[in-house]
Amino acid sequence: MRISALCPRCGEEEESVAHVLLKCHFAKAVWFASNLAVRTEGIDHDSFSDWFAELLAQQHEMPNNQDWLQAYSVFCWEIWKARNGLIFNGTITTPSQVAVKSWSFISEAQIDLC
Ligand SMILES: [Zn+2]
Repeated sequence: MRISALCPRCGEEEESVAHVLLKCHFAKAVWFASNLAVRTEGIDHDSFSDWFAELLAQQHEMPNNQDWLQAYSVFCWEIWKARNGLIFNGTITTPSQVAVKSWSFISEAQIDLC
């Protein structure tokens, strides 16, 4: 049974949703590999929901904003799945593998980012 409150990937900070999805070096590397121009450096939010709400506000006026938000959600989901794979199965996943899986899902789901 896992009892540490530290991030299982880096062991440097307490694990939180914001840490796993945005602040951990692994998450930053995934977002960098995503080519979605998602800013993770200098985030002053300690809350993932605050960050996502800001993303929603930024995308509100953009064409295809729902598709972009779906794409961001897919990346979050794949980062979370990689975290679960590490914790529960000891599966090592690279940031680029997460990005490839995310883009594959986005393509199969016909999420239109054009
Ligand atoms: Zn971490």
